[in-house]
Amino acid sequence: MPYDDQNIFAKILRGEIPCKKIYEDDFVLSFHDINPQKKVHALVIPKGKYINLDDFNKNASKDEIVGLINGISIVAEKLGISSENGNGYRTLANINEDGGQEVPHLHFHLFGGEKVGKMVS
Ligand code: 5GP
Repeated sequence: MPYDDQNIFAKILRGEIPCKKIYEDDFVLSFHDINPQKKVHALVIPKGKYINLDDFNKNASKDEIVGLINGISIVAEKLGISSENGNGYRTLANINEDGGQEVPHLHFHLFGGEKVGKMVS
């Protein structure tokens, strides 16, 4: 399946639709989820066109991979939920149909600000 340039996160990256931005650098954009599932619910997405984690790991450069992983920790720190300056958080990436992925641009969810609860429901 080719990358869909019309997916909602591609539009956010192009600035065609707004987002509540948390952080941006050369590799990632982070913004608040429009439908938060916990007190803190952020998304971290790579700037490159990757459908999911498998696509990313196969095709992204080492710099992009490091940049995305670093971006997650930077955002957690900015939100005050990191292991350094908060009580921790959960990050997860849904992958394709069985994983429950709705937007076909790789994204990591960050949940925190309260106890996140059961790992899988
Ligand atoms: P997925 O199910 O693909 O892992 O998660 C997609 C996430 O994107 C959902 O949590 C959903 O609320 C969020 N989302 C969908 N559309 C938008 C949007 O236009 N803006 C923002 N900020 N989040 C969105």
